Amino acid sequence: MPIKVLPSDLAAKIAAGEVVERPASVVKELVENSIDAGAGQITVEIKAGGVELLKVSDDGHGIPADEVPVAFQRHATSKIDSQEQLDAIATMGFRGEALPSIAAVSRTVLATRQPLESAGFRMELLWGEEVSSGSQGCPQGTTVEVSDLFGNLPARRKFLRSSSAETSRVQELVSRYALVFPAVRFQLVVDGRTSFTSPGNGVPREALLAVYGPQAATAMLEVHAEDEANGYQVDGFAGAPSLTRANRTYMTFFVNRRWVQSRMLSFAVEEAYMGLLQVKRYPLASLNISMPYEDVDVNAHPAKREVRFKDESRVFSTVQRAVRMVLVAESPVPMLTSPNPEYAAAPATSFFPRSAFGGARSGGSALEYPASAPPDAAVPRRPAPPLKVVGQLKLTYIVAEGAEGMFLVDQHAAHERVLFDRICQKIAQRESQSQPLLGPVPVELSPAQTDTLKTNREALENYGFQFEPFGDGSYLLRAVPAIFGEGDPARALLDVLDMTAFEGLVRQKEDVTAASIACHGAIRAGKSLTEPEMVALLEQLEATPNPHTCPHGRPTMVHFSSFHMEREFGRR
Ligand code: ADP
Ligand code: MG
Repeated sequence: MPIKVLPSDLAAKIAAGEVVERPASVVKELVENSIDAGAGQITVEIKAGGVELLKVSDDGHGIPADEVPVAFQRHATSKIDSQEQLDAIATMGFRGEALPSIAAVSRTVLATRQPLESAGFRMELLWGEEVSSGSQGCPQGTTVEVSDLFGNLPARRKFLRSSSAETSRVQELVSRYALVFPAVRFQLVVDGRTSFTSPGNGVPREALLAVYGPQAATAMLEVHAEDEANGYQVDGFAGAPSLTRANRTYMTFFVNRRWVQSRMLSFAVEEAYMGLLQVKRYPLASLNISMPYEDVDVNAHPAKREVRFKDESRVFSTVQRAVRMVLVAESPVPMLTSPNPEYAAAPATSFFPRSAFGGARSGGSALEYPASAPPDAAVPRRPAPPLKVVGQLKLTYIVAEGAEGMFLVDQHAAHERVLFDRICQKIAQRESQSQPLLGPVPVELSPAQTDTLKTNREALENYGFQFEPFGDGSYLLRAVPAIFGEGDPARALLDVLDMTAFEGLVRQKEDVTAASIACHGAIRAGKSLTEPEMVALLEQLEATPNPHTCPHGRPTMVHFSSFHMEREFGRR
């Protein structure tokens, strides 16, 4: 066949295939347009899975009558008009492809009225061609009605799943947007019945309640972490470790409130739950990561489902730490074997109306709760249980026995916790932490280390380091924190700087420095400990206010309950 340019209707159909895969993708584009139009209320209505009818109405700012036909042209958008704007996109849309793509594969009717206009405008298209247009009275905002979707693309229509499967994709989509836009009131009507509404009052936890139902919503922990220096922020909810799923679909991510799919982000969340979940179980999470627009390229996928990050590893660690911090703050000793009973006992709040959708979900099998907690599994949160040393394992863990079973204590993490608390206490009591060196020690710093040293200078000095510039990336070290004892002082400073840089994303400066110092000073894995040393370490750990986690948020100990051991050995 000779090469020739495709007829425009065929080209439009092909292009539409990229944007409009199924009813849910149409809903996504239309809802995003409504959000971009500043809507406070968005109603989505579908019939027969969205194939027969799919309608999205909003109360946004509408479209000027004379611009409506333009909106249906390829690459027509009011949202960007220059390369600079493409590099820092703040709106959901920007490609100008949704309306023409949707219109190319359906019968589309758009009606719109701007707030100050008395009349609105209506335009109807069939398979991308205008059928009629003209002024018409209508409420403020925009309504797009799409019917007979893929009527001219039988292959695409065959590829759709059952109408209930397509319906649930639309439900999932609407509920995800409701989570990240709590100030917008969403309503979803399926085959004439309201299936979901969100309150739209701007309170994230109430949007969560509407989506997940009261039972699961109570077991969701609020995540909020900021990294002011880089303008990153993580907000949302993460499920308590007791609330798990058999796959990853309950992890939802938004980047600057744009719903994205990202394996990397799922991994970051899974990492945060490390040691807290059983194998093959996955957490629930709904997180929005805000970052400067120029740090993320949203123009990476035709349906805008994927994004590219300028600094992927920073995003990864910011998310992982944000979630980990919440889990650690809320979690008692992680139990390796049975689900944590503490969350299962969380009362179901009854004063919030349970939506049909949320109720169906939380009542179904989608979410799982431990049916009843084993009677002896309740580990007191604080203080640490008194523990008896049994021995050391792999020169890394202390095996100990407690009233509730067996505990494995990570010697490094435990010692870190002890030192961290000691450092903080000395600071609080204004005691000197410093240990002068016999002679000044020159230390060479990389530019990154110099940077960390300068930004954290005050904290480093408070905690016992004394140093002065010695020309060109070098410093003279005169004192180190007293807890370091005999070790190599230069190594100590370099270690603490590297750790501070690594930890410094979502935590307070002082905390980071103290944690880094504690980490450097703590006994390492691989060191043989005598029994009196282990006893002393456990006693010191028990005396700290947060014995269950190290200052970086990792657990200091894991617990194998007597109940579980008995069950494993067939005694129960
Ligand atoms: P994009 O969103 O990428 O700009 P679309 O094809 O989705 O492209 O929409 C084209 C234009 O139509 C938008 O830029 C916007 O100006 C206008 N528009 C579409 N939907 C709405 C709406 N619900 N409210 C107001 N304006 C809208
Ligand atoms: Mg759009």
